[in-house]
Amino acid sequence: MSKNSLEISPLMIIPAYLVGEVKSKLAYVDEHIMKAEITSAGDKIILHLDIEANEGLNNRIVTKIQRVVQALVKGAFKLKVQVLEDFIDRPVPCSIDPMPELLRRSELSQEALGIFVLGPLLTRLVAYLERRFIELADSFGAQPYRFPTLIPARFLERVKYFSAFPHSLTFATHLRTDLDAIDHFANQAVCDEQGLNVPPETFAQVNTLLSPAVCYHLYFALAGKPLKDGQLIATAVGNCFRYEASNLISLERLWNFTMREVIFVGTKDFVLDHRELGRLRMNKVFEEMGLAYRVESANDPFFIGEFRRQAAFQSAFQLKYEIRARLPFKDPPSVLKTDYATLAVGSYNYHQDFFGRNLDISLPDGSPAHTGCIAFGLERMAFALLSQYGLEMKSWPASIRKALM
Ligand code: 5GP
Ligand code: ZN
Repeated sequence: MSKNSLEISPLMIIPAYLVGEVKSKLAYVDEHIMKAEITSAGDKIILHLDIEANEGLNNRIVTKIQRVVQALVKGAFKLKVQVLEDFIDRPVPCSIDPMPELLRRSELSQEALGIFVLGPLLTRLVAYLERRFIELADSFGAQPYRFPTLIPARFLERVKYFSAFPHSLTFATHLRTDLDAIDHFANQAVCDEQGLNVPPETFAQVNTLLSPAVCYHLYFALAGKPLKDGQLIATAVGNCFRYEASNLISLERLWNFTMREVIFVGTKDFVLDHRELGRLRMNKVFEEMGLAYRVESANDPFFIGEFRRQAAFQSAFQLKYEIRARLPFKDPPSVLKTDYATLAVGSYNYHQDFFGRNLDISLPDGSPAHTGCIAFGLERMAFALLSQYGLEMKSWPASIRKALM
């Protein structure tokens, strides 16, 4: 064990079905945690720290870790996973991680943790994917929208985002509108390895965040009024921001990523029928793309205190299904089909009347509107395709090759 590692025996064994969830939350426990591992038996947690471990720090971290484990494991039960589509063993030619080669060829440049510039190959592939998703939107006659990247704090508060996902928020601010503060900043601001070295009071109070999702903007635009014609289908693409601390690796998990959504607002049946129709239409598109994937029930990454209740709720009411693409390079050495490594590249969501109720969007009969969305993560979808087919266009499925040439 190196001086910078800390091994902890959790007070409760972490069951296999919770290992991924607990691991993803460990990144938020302490700023000194660079990487966290959990043994397959769920009886040991190994933390890699950015400083030498010492007794005081160890005690503080251990207490917080036990709190997280307790909160997630105590009383937990395995949620039943419902598989709607299974094309996970569709044959694919590649099993190499595309990241090193993308970086070597400058097809990808890292600006900072979770922030990447995409070069021509990835940009063309993303543009192709976008066209396919816009075709889906057009098949519904969806109305196009453009949403801002910024989102007011009071909007997110109204839909309880702060308690559900506090860990992944990204705040936007500006200098206080005060000549002395601006002059001081202009003359003194420097960036060192810790970041921008200026006193916190230089900045105005936070009123705005960077958007964590696309469809919220539509619901806020519809808030406080009856829904015209009683139903709406819309589509938009947008930058989304979810801070993921040391979980931010490669194109699998970005701080800043792009989502294309098709959004449904109307009665319960209208939303559920269209979500299902969208899934069936995408099944054909993914077949043409040759994507190896599954569609299965899932839950959002709620923060620790909210996780169990919200995840169980989403599962019971079948609110979320994820399109999980295979990442062959991540498969364990001798792999059963059930153990294939996958990545969520999109989701089919139903929010019931949550936004309708909280934002007062009403149907002609006065009841709150129901909402749902189909969301595609563009960088992740491109990453999954490159993981399955490699970087050489000649190995790609004919439909993609033709569209790109
Ligand atoms: P959801 O709303 O289901 O959480 O997100 C919709 C889609 O956005 C996901 O299926 C995924 O493709 C993409 N997405 C969500 N979080 C991230 C992330 O951290 N990085 C990247 N690259 N894509 C993400
Ligand atoms: Zn959405």
